[in-house]
Amino acid sequence: MKIETKCLHSGYQPKNGEPSVMPIVQSTTYRFDSCDHVAELFDKPTEFMYSRFANPTCECVEKKIADLEGGVGCMLTSSGQAASLLSVLNLCSAGDSFIASSSIYGGTINLFGFTLKKLGIECIWVDVDASYEEIVAAFKPNTKCVFGETIANPALTVFDFEKWAKAAHSQNIPLIIDNTFATPILCRPFEWGADIVVHSTTKYMDGHAVQGGGAIVDSGNFDWEKAYKETGKFADMIEPDESYHGLKYVGDFGKAAYIVKARTQLMRDFGCYPAAQSAFYLNLGLETLPLRMKRYCENAKKVAEFFKTSDKIASVSYPGLEGDKYFDLAQKYLPEGTCGVVSISIKGGRQAAVRFMDALKLASDEVHVADIRTCVLHPASATHRQLTDEQLVAAGIDGGMVRFSCGLENIDDIIADIKLGLAAI
Ligand SMILES: *Cc1c(COP(=O)(O)O)cnc(C)c1O
Repeated sequence: MKIETKCLHSGYQPKNGEPSVMPIVQSTTYRFDSCDHVAELFDKPTEFMYSRFANPTCECVEKKIADLEGGVGCMLTSSGQAASLLSVLNLCSAGDSFIASSSIYGGTINLFGFTLKKLGIECIWVDVDASYEEIVAAFKPNTKCVFGETIANPALTVFDFEKWAKAAHSQNIPLIIDNTFATPILCRPFEWGADIVVHSTTKYMDGHAVQGGGAIVDSGNFDWEKAYKETGKFADMIEPDESYHGLKYVGDFGKAAYIVKARTQLMRDFGCYPAAQSAFYLNLGLETLPLRMKRYCENAKKVAEFFKTSDKIASVSYPGLEGDKYFDLAQKYLPEGTCGVVSISIKGGRQAAVRFMDALKLASDEVHVADIRTCVLHPASATHRQLTDEQLVAAGIDGGMVRFSCGLENIDDIIADIKLGLAAI
């Protein structure tokens, strides 16, 4: 099946007489006939037993997202933040370090730089545009993974997968990618060497601003056994899990070791699981994702081109626009389009940006992005408020920056609204 078809048919294929639309299984628990049966489930978690581990509705959506990304397994989480957290905790413990591109989502910067630090896990920041040699030089003996974002929110830098994957794999280390802005419609990181993908499904995947969620997808490609033999790292992928009756992740689950471990250890213990109802909404969003991504990209390109013509704008970032710093990388990794978000920097800094935003009538000022309706945000005073000036610069943000997230409205109406904003500066 091609990706548009997968969006409609993967994950749930009703049999004769079954509902055409994936049902919501609103039950946290399951009934069994014997004590032995339940005991077996604790040895080998192969059936539904409790919603913290798995739910039939969620599982359909997990299968669909795994299929869209080309992975062997997927686990939904209650938010994108939970997905990023668990993706790293599945590999790093206190005393370990990991490398992250400095150009990533503000919430992830907080999580990695402050909260994981409190848990004894060090994040080593590396410039998204660092050379291969600079990336390799950043590894420490205790480094366990590398993290980057396909198109960073909101700096709109494009991640050079081949360079980063080669650097990570030269050290026997897996590469985790936040693919939220591109979605698997426009970029499939596994095809470029990434090992794990995470998503905030709250954004384009849902698209309608009706559910919050996240996903972790395992490519099944990382060779944990080889890495363990050569570096001694990832012992808990290979050796029996004391907390789960001696389950061996690679031994018992092969290519799905990472995602099974994320579920059986981390979801079991942290419990940040999604509701079946949320998975149902997410699935509705996924069904139309290819159509929507196409339109978001068309609108965003026109918006970026329009901003370029204004003398009130200091700079326009949109990797789909010729002349953009990341145009060539975007052509390579996202030839069919990048995303619907355009970042602009307004001349006159913070004050001018606020005036522009407050004058908009159609586009709403929202703490959200990648919605079906056009929305705007001022990162320096909202999502990235906690960052120091230095961190803001590293994340590609300044006081005049506005994140303009194009919706699916008619482009003429969006441009008319932008004209109102510009007139107010
Ligand atoms: C929003 C976002 C997140 C966090 O997702 P939540 O669902 O809000 O927890 C992570 N990464 C990116 C790129 C995002 O845009």
